[in-house]
Amino acid sequence: MNLVQQLICCGKEMVRYSLVAGASGNISAHRDQKIIITRKGAFLGSLSPEDFVKVDFHGSDPRASRDLVIHRTIYETIDTKFILHSHGIKTIVVSFLVDTFEPIDLEGRYVLGAVPVVEGEYDVERLSKNIAEKISESEVVVVKGHGAYACGDDPLEALARLVTLDQSCKIFYDYMILTK
Ligand SMILES: [Zn+2]
Repeated sequence: MNLVQQLICCGKEMVRYSLVAGASGNISAHRDQKIIITRKGAFLGSLSPEDFVKVDFHGSDPRASRDLVIHRTIYETIDTKFILHSHGIKTIVVSFLVDTFEPIDLEGRYVLGAVPVVEGEYDVERLSKNIAEKISESEVVVVKGHGAYACGDDPLEALARLVTLDQSCKIFYDYMILTK
């Protein structure tokens, strides 16, 4: 399976796990001083090779996702090969409740550890800065009221982090409600 096919599979899985809806979320890979990223408006559940844009590491392309700046900043900050961005509903709900998400379930603690939550911004430059300050602490960062960015040396590793995160947030949320 080539790189783009791997990313297409990841997009389908992100939809299957309800981590994105409509044209939200994005996916990128960093290889040979290039960034390959989903285009603006792409539906992650039905990606085709034409939905990916390849840019020089410091370059830009009007077709690329607006989040290209964020992905580039993460690649500049830590050594990683793939980034997936999700809008998991339980992740977003929990982002309003904590400054750092500490899973209460064993799987979440094992896979994620403590996950930083940063302030959301519409300005991608400012949001990039907020994420870059925390991404070295954990390979997943939650953006308050927005979603999460997860890294991995393999796209499935990044995907597993996002799936576990949303599941751990659901467990945390349900536990909070039931024990209130
Ligand atoms: Zn987003």
